[in-house]
Amino acid sequence: MKMTNTDHYDDSVVIPSIRRNVQLDIFGSDSLIALEPADPHVRFDCPDLDLSDYDLAIVSMSGGKDSIAGLCRLLEMGYPKEKIELWHNHVDGDPLNDDIFFDWNFMYSYNKKLAEAFGIPLYCSWLNKGLRGEMLKHNSIPHPHSFETPAGIIELGRETCKPGTRRKFPQQSGSLSTRWCSSSLKVDPAKRALTNQDRFLGQRILFITGERRAESSPRAKMSQLAPHAVDTERKSKNPKKPRYIDSWRNVLHLTEEDVWQILSDWRITPPVPYRLGWGRSSCKLCIFSSDRVLATINEYWPEKILEVADYEDQFGVTIARSGKNVFERATSTTPFIIDDEEALQQSFRKEYTLPIFVPDDKIWTLPKGAFSTESSGAI
Ligand code: SF4
Repeated sequence: MKMTNTDHYDDSVVIPSIRRNVQLDIFGSDSLIALEPADPHVRFDCPDLDLSDYDLAIVSMSGGKDSIAGLCRLLEMGYPKEKIELWHNHVDGDPLNDDIFFDWNFMYSYNKKLAEAFGIPLYCSWLNKGLRGEMLKHNSIPHPHSFETPAGIIELGRETCKPGTRRKFPQQSGSLSTRWCSSSLKVDPAKRALTNQDRFLGQRILFITGERRAESSPRAKMSQLAPHAVDTERKSKNPKKPRYIDSWRNVLHLTEEDVWQILSDWRITPPVPYRLGWGRSSCKLCIFSSDRVLATINEYWPEKILEVADYEDQFGVTIARSGKNVFERATSTTPFIIDDEEALQQSFRKEYTLPIFVPDDKIWTLPKGAFSTESSGAI
């Protein structure tokens, strides 16, 4: 299924709304951070919720421990899996046709296999050509958004956008216009997947994301329940397209220990990035990566550092604004020692072939990256 430029409203209203919001908000709730919110639909603390109010729960699934724990909590609360969908934002574009640049090779396959193991459908969304295509934009309009639906893939053109130029890496910032990877590659495609499927009209939807307050000070201030940015029922008396969507961060209050306990209780094999020593399962080349993480990438996957270095030369701007280039950073310290050979071999393969659940005759063990303080993911 293909649509081009069908929704001018998305490009002129839905997507720019996030640009106006300079605070950090990963998946679309713009009613961020109010200890005593004036809006009765916003709750700063909301660890539990009456789930019978909702027709559908969408779990934004990165493939990391927190979003997996969010799914497990939902199931533990008795929400039927027949009413759950997993959504994955693929940062490198079309998972079957575009090259992997920023993400882990296996991340798309891992999410597919995880969804299959739980018996829950997975739908991906992406910006065509992914992070690389957006970064190389040069006096041109943005690439279309695409998303999977039960009826096939929908592609939405962006012909009404003004031409623009990036030619630099996204930057570490709480602002999603500077840290454009989060907004352009994750928030925007997911918002358009919500606003361009009539199956959501007239439904009460719960949109679950996996931020935790303990991860960073911006996340510490997030509200736990709020109307989603593309909810229309709370924003208009007579919406033409009635969408009731609550954004619920159902692991926001949990500690890292709580999250690992959930994965252990469910016997979920710790995802590969943690087994390699990463404390977060984000993009492999995440712009928040510490020098030590870059040193590890340089040790085991040197071609990734070469790719970044080549773009730094082309752009005349380094990936970090510290002034140090990626080689200087990657050679300034020692790499992690990776001793999990099985996880290391998986990191070279696109198809995920390891077990999703730890087999009954094996002991569940905490991965090396658990409780790491080494920066490797968004704040
Ligand atoms: S994980 Fe890092 S690089 Fe990837 S989208 Fe988030 S902030 Fe950007």
